[in-house]
Amino acid sequence: MRTGTTHLFIPGPTNVPEVVRQAMNVPMQDMRAPDFGDLTLGLFADLKRVLRTETGSVFIYPGSGTAAWEAAITNTLNPGDKVLMSRFGQFSTLWVEMAERLGLDVEVIDVAWGAGVPVSEYARRLGQDRMGEIKAVFVTHNETATGVTSDVAAVRRVMDECFHDALLFVDGVSSIGSIDFRMDDWGVDLAVTGSQKGLMLPAGLGILGVSEKAMAAAKTATMRRAYFEFADMQAMNASGYFPYTPPTQLFHGLRRSLDRIFDEGLDAVIARHHRLAEGVRRGVAAWGMDLVAEHPTLYSDTVSAIRVPEGVDARDVLRIGYERYNTSFGSGLARLAGKVFRIGHLGDLNEGMVLTALSLAELSLAEAGAAVEFGSGVGAAQTWFAEATPSEARLQIAAE
Ligand SMILES: *Cc1c(COP(=O)(O)O)cnc(C)c1O
Repeated sequence: MRTGTTHLFIPGPTNVPEVVRQAMNVPMQDMRAPDFGDLTLGLFADLKRVLRTETGSVFIYPGSGTAAWEAAITNTLNPGDKVLMSRFGQFSTLWVEMAERLGLDVEVIDVAWGAGVPVSEYARRLGQDRMGEIKAVFVTHNETATGVTSDVAAVRRVMDECFHDALLFVDGVSSIGSIDFRMDDWGVDLAVTGSQKGLMLPAGLGILGVSEKAMAAAKTATMRRAYFEFADMQAMNASGYFPYTPPTQLFHGLRRSLDRIFDEGLDAVIARHHRLAEGVRRGVAAWGMDLVAEHPTLYSDTVSAIRVPEGVDARDVLRIGYERYNTSFGSGLARLAGKVFRIGHLGDLNEGMVLTALSLAELSLAEAGAAVEFGSGVGAAQTWFAEATPSEARLQIAAE
């Protein structure tokens, strides 16, 4: 038997706030009722605010983030289209695999796991593409396997500088709603996310932001699709309905989680993620360990991938955390297995949870054989939180 709280410090699914869980505990309802749109139309409008788009559309598919990846590709491209992608972690790798399986002609740039999207290489390839053969450019905004956040705005700049007309696809599954993301400002054509990361919900919704340009491309794109067809969704969504049975419980949860995001303020949510992530990073530095991310400009505010010392197996750290301390950390994926463990720090999170994560990581690391001084990481994070917690947050607490 396990007593007390089970700790989830993985980068998705993230912790679901109690009020969001309760908001989903509602009776089944008529998805064709005349007032059903009161719920769904508000969700579309508020998801646009999270994506920071005024001109784009939002689709919500029952599915996970991977479904939204597929919806983005199949609706806007043609079999055999040339696309430019890069691989620098497990998620960017999986998106490349999907694109290949769907029959795209993928030009892949491999970069080190720990680096970000290769902007200057993208610039070179796009500059050489005088005939406009490249139909789409893909960016994994936050590579969850390595804890790297890439510069989407820079990719947009190089596309504009060579007047390239390709569609810009961005995987924002572990960034949207947690790290600054600007669909309109960055000219993102397809913005992919899911429900179980920054949106603090169970898995089950694949969410896709689609620009006007991408909607136009969908009118002539010939890749096969049925379930994901934009036109079917658009026709029904206009009045708040769906072409098939939608997961209404998740919609009620989404309503509540969006309310929480806007009550806190999207900018404040993003600032909180930065503050909490910095606490994790200070802790890791105090242990004398390195992140997989190669440079501070790439550090992710939603997940940190931590290299364990030579001679320590990161799988032991995970196992000890799980078996002894009721705690899940993220594993090292693919080539990082055994070398890395991850701390997910996104969604419904506060300072106390970060300190708990660091302190249990210290115990698990030490038991797995790492030379880590108890309290070192926790102390470094405490020192940071003591100075960084904004006075508004303190005032708000005082007022409550
Ligand atoms: C979680 C994640 C996905 C996959 O989403 P699923 O919901 O598991 O299908 C894709 N990309 C990134 C960057 C992710 O973090």
